[in-house]
Amino acid sequence: MDLKQYIAIVPDYPKEGIVFKDITPLMNDGAAYKAATDRIVEFAKEKQIDLVVGPEARGFIIGCPVSYALGVGFAPVRKEGKLPREVIKVDYGKEYGKDVLTIHKDAIRPGQRVLITDDLLATGGTIEATIKLVEELGGIVAGIAFLVELSYLDGRKVIGDYDVLTLMTY
Ligand code: IMP
Repeated sequence: MDLKQYIAIVPDYPKEGIVFKDITPLMNDGAAYKAATDRIVEFAKEKQIDLVVGPEARGFIIGCPVSYALGVGFAPVRKEGKLPREVIKVDYGKEYGKDVLTIHKDAIRPGQRVLITDDLLATGGTIEATIKLVEELGGIVAGIAFLVELSYLDGRKVIGDYDVLTLMTY
């Protein structure tokens, strides 16, 4: 299935000069969402994943069906102030500004093999921060999966040597 037909290209969103890739048409189509999820599940099986971790909010949309299919847990990474119990946090820069990401301190057991999921790799700031959180808790980043990669923003260089799956590249 050609998944790119389900990505809407939105010029000048959220601000002028940015060409936004909207994944909501893909999620809206049952067959396309399933096909994308199945490909990530295959990748996760190869990597023998124990836990899926995704940054809010679209990382949940990609990661949760994968964790369900594998029968493993899901741990959310969220903006500061959104998780109710003890967290660790990391500052990060992203395509449109700066922010803080957090994860519950007890979300990962040391040695667990983690799959990180998000909808899209742009500059890599969000995923770099998520990797730091996982590793600080003793998790092993066994794979990272995205629907879309914006290769012209060079996020792969920021990510470095991890095993990365992207289903579509622009
Ligand atoms: P990065 O941190 O620069 O790699 O940006 C990736 C994050 O920003 C992801 O969590 C995406 O959801 C969001 N993002 C950046 N650009 C786009 C886009 O064109 N479409 C959808 N999400 C985007």
